[in-house]
Amino acid sequence: MASKKLHVKKNDMVMIIAGKDKGKTGKVMRVLADKGRVVVESLNVVKRHSRPTRANAEGGIIEKEAPLAASNVLLLCGACNKPTRTGIRILDDGSKARFCKKCNEIVDK
Ligand SMILES: [Zn+2]
Repeated sequence: MASKKLHVKKNDMVMIIAGKDKGKTGKVMRVLADKGRVVVESLNVVKRHSRPTRANAEGGIIEKEAPLAASNVLLLCGACNKPTRTGIRILDDGSKARFCKKCNEIVDK
C-alpha cells in the first residue's frame, strides 16, 4: 500500500486549530493517511450508542475518539512549544526530517 505522507505522525503532540476542541492539545494515536485524518488521544470524543455484543453484553454508551481532518491539527514543536507548520529538510546523510517553521529546529529525532 502506498502511504501518503501527512505532516503529523503517530505519537506527535498536536494542537487542534478548528472545531469544538480548538486550542486543545493531545497525542496522535493513529494516522489515517489515505483519508487525511488523524485520531488524537482524548480529543474529538464522540458518544456512541452501542448494541449489546458478545464482547460487551450490556451495550450502552461508549466514548470514542473520532478521526479529525489532519488539516485541523498543527504539530506542537518540542523545541519552541508552539503549534507550527513544518517543512522538510534533507539532512547531511540524505534522510529527510521535518523542521519547525517557527524556530527552525528539527522536530524528528
Ligand atoms: Zn519550534
